[in-house]
Amino acid sequence: MQGSQEVVVLRYGHRPGRDDRMTTHVGLTARALGADRVLFPDNATQAAETVADITDRFGGPFAIEQTDSQAAVVRNWEGLVVHLTMYGLPIQAVEDEIRGAVDTDPLLVIVGGEKVPFELYEHADWNVGVTNQPHSEVAGLAVFFDRFFEGRELNQTWADAERTVIPKATGKKVVSPDEHDCASGGDGS
Ligand code: SAM
Repeated sequence: MQGSQEVVVLRYGHRPGRDDRMTTHVGLTARALGADRVLFPDNATQAAETVADITDRFGGPFAIEQTDSQAAVVRNWEGLVVHLTMYGLPIQAVEDEIRGAVDTDPLLVIVGGEKVPFELYEHADWNVGVTNQPHSEVAGLAVFFDRFFEGRELNQTWADAERTVIPKATGKKVVSPDEHDCASGGDGS
């Protein structure tokens, strides 16, 4: 997010077909809630294309990249590493410490898919649980970012958007940069 150290989300593991929607939502959630970049495995091309398309249409800056070696990304990361896992320390116990440390260092936030290797737990600076109950990588990421950014992510603005949603109590309104109302009453998709 503007004005802070770089925050990158690594989606660790992806099963094509089965995980397509979840991996896409990891990317969309990362973009919407304050990350600067998402890293997908190289077999998640469909999800990467969808997130890139949304970024083109709804604005940035936000980068989508793919890697053929997620383990190497973690190993070589020059900064701090948070691994979101139901087995980790409660977010409410470590959020202040993480925020303080990230003031000076970039942050890699890892969310898994099916199962992550144990080395990742060892490599992480913090293994963080959003509750210690099993749920989803998207929910974990959303709560983590809201705690980490203390709500500031909700006030972000987006540059170079082809379309912008105008909040309305009822109905749907989407405008293009020239203020032309291109989808009043439509869904804007
Ligand atoms: N046993 C896994 C674990 O370590 O959390 C659950 C797998 S879950 C289907 C996929 C991903 O969701 C996990 O790798 C983790 O990143 C995230 N996740 C699930 N529950 C979570 C929780 N309570 N807190 C933080 N992240 C969670």
